[in-house]
Amino acid sequence: MAEPLHTLGAAELGRRLASRDLTSRALAEALLARAASRRELGAFNSLDADDLLRQADAADARRAGGRSLGPLDGIPVAIKDNIAVRGQPLTCSSRMLAGYVSPYDSAVAERLRAAGALLMGRLNMDEFAMGSSTETSATGLARNPWDPARTPGGSSGGSAACLASGQAPLALGSDTGGSIRQPASHCGLVGLKPTYGLVSRHGLVAFASSLDQIGPMARSVDDCELLLAALAGPDARDMTCLAADARAPRVLPADRKPRLGVPRALLEGVAPGVRKAFDDALGVYRAEGCELVDVDLPSAALAVPAYYVVATAEASSNLARYDGIRYGHRAARDGDIVALMSQSRAEGFGAEVKRRILLGTFVLSAGFADAYYGKALAARARIREEYLGALARVDALATPTVPSSAFRLGEKAADPLQMYLEDLFTIPANLAGLPALSVPSGLDGALPVGLHLVGPPLGEGLLLGLARRLERATGLAHRVAQP
Ligand code: GLN
Repeated sequence: MAEPLHTLGAAELGRRLASRDLTSRALAEALLARAASRRELGAFNSLDADDLLRQADAADARRAGGRSLGPLDGIPVAIKDNIAVRGQPLTCSSRMLAGYVSPYDSAVAERLRAAGALLMGRLNMDEFAMGSSTETSATGLARNPWDPARTPGGSSGGSAACLASGQAPLALGSDTGGSIRQPASHCGLVGLKPTYGLVSRHGLVAFASSLDQIGPMARSVDDCELLLAALAGPDARDMTCLAADARAPRVLPADRKPRLGVPRALLEGVAPGVRKAFDDALGVYRAEGCELVDVDLPSAALAVPAYYVVATAEASSNLARYDGIRYGHRAARDGDIVALMSQSRAEGFGAEVKRRILLGTFVLSAGFADAYYGKALAARARIREEYLGALARVDALATPTVPSSAFRLGEKAADPLQMYLEDLFTIPANLAGLPALSVPSGLDGALPVGLHLVGPPLGEGLLLGLARRLERATGLAHRVAQP
């Protein structure tokens, strides 16, 4: 066995487990050792080694009895700390939920257990998934394995740092405005935000419920697809989760070349190194015989402002439950109940979360709701219409995932607007409910850069197929940062 276990992808690990060249316990032990040696990256908020090894032993016992639960059986999947796993902490990297242990499994945790996967640790993130750098985390910085002075992105920054440094072969992220795809881009990974409703949100701590989706992150397209297959499925406990008969996948037509739409007007302001990787990726598709079509998405410019109205409005309502009485940190102070609640919230929430709650409360307040919230909903509807219109003519829309590569820690922390622009290209897919992914397209110096593809509803397979073509040409799969 030449390559160390921590560098292998899930598909390869699955083959070795199936052929009994490898035990799940040996794999879990290797990854725990790797995680211990890369602790300074801040990928995990917590990692329960005994629990992981118990799950590994159960997988090995199953296998010894001649039983396998499928391709993920015995393979660790690291979990973002806003996705409930029974008996494990669920902190959302917030002081508000410090010490909270989930009494139940999220739907995705149930599905992964049923597939035999090992639920591994609790991954660092921006507080309540609000941020693009993991710097709003109350549990400590996460670092980019390709350059530890830089951000891994966010909010699923712990997921990305974990994968890019080989601490797990697969990880879960959540994506409300780009939180799977932006860190995937910054860390050289494949990350997919599913069609809204493909994956159950039951047990995902709500940020903005009409935008939130859980999705897979991995070091290759194949691995990403493998994990997505385990996550997707109907669930009556999430009323927005698609029914079994509403899941017919959209595929690439066999009778013609794939068509990629390129919204050229949106590319202004993209950093030169990112632009070059993007142009190179388009060159790959052209050489593959794909047709490149210019498309116009005039309302895409409204996406960031509309998002910061819709997402904060929903967040202000979703986070009302953390008051020290129903949920969350309770301030020591006694006295009247309003003072207790407000003191608890003042102590429990960090600055970015407070900014979002204030903004969201404002845009929903009497006299302003029509001017702000109503308008944002109208912009959202128009964006969806435009994207669906474009996707009737092309199979997918291509842009860079992020306008620039990973920035230095601290560089944007004092400037929320700069931070919000990290999601310029990713937010429209959330507003429109469309599937989108980031796949490595090249390097900006030593830093990874991703290509972003948005597809029609239920076009995940189509997007993964397109991503696979680029991955084959770039050879940028299964990369793990040294040391
Ligand atoms: N960066 C965006 C925000 O801060 C998106 C976050 C996310 O997708 N969870 O809201």
